[in-house]
Amino acid sequence: MRIVLLGAPGSGKGTQAKFLVEKHNIPHISTGDLLRGAIAAKTELGLAAKEVMDKGNLVSDDIVLGMLKERLGQDDAQKGFILDGFPRNLVQAEMLSELFTELSLSLDHALLIEVDPDEVVARIAKRAEIEGRSDDTEEVVRNRLNVYKEQTAPVADFYKKQDIVTEIMGTGSIEDVQARIEAALRF
Ligand code: AMP
Repeated sequence: MRIVLLGAPGSGKGTQAKFLVEKHNIPHISTGDLLRGAIAAKTELGLAAKEVMDKGNLVSDDIVLGMLKERLGQDDAQKGFILDGFPRNLVQAEMLSELFTELSLSLDHALLIEVDPDEVVARIAKRAEIEGRSDDTEEVVRNRLNVYKEQTAPVADFYKKQDIVTEIMGTGSIEDVQARIEAALRF
């Protein structure tokens, strides 16, 4: 099963992805995590990406696609995956479609987790206390939400045209959201 998780920063994509990994035994591939890995490894690419990420802007499409292609080529991704954080704009959505055509793969589900913007800000403030991510400060979060609205939200329409989007209400407990996702995956 190949799933794309869509939703604003703080909508709970990462949390829900963890449950999907356990339940469906497919890897969680987060481009944010891949980039943070490159930063931790102090690679040249990681250092360049950090500056952009710390402002809440998007890292270049080619860099992210390169990392993603490499990750998708690994053994554990052959039986499916949960993609989180990609595509982040329409260019990336087109790139992913082309890549899937090249690899003769298809996407089964695009799950759009919908959360109220106020709720998102509160959740990220909480995450900032726990994880200490350098892009979880208030000013950067505001920019990330704008970037989401302007560049990432249209990606949902891209997949709606392919009729593979399910909107998931992201409010309530983690378990509630999880149950809604599982119900959506049955179709
Ligand atoms: P995330 O962990 O998904 O919230 O991503 C954290 C940051 O990594 C984003 O604010 C971007 O700067 C960068 N990033 C993650 N995924 C992408 C992507 N697909 N394209 C461009 N930048 C990305």
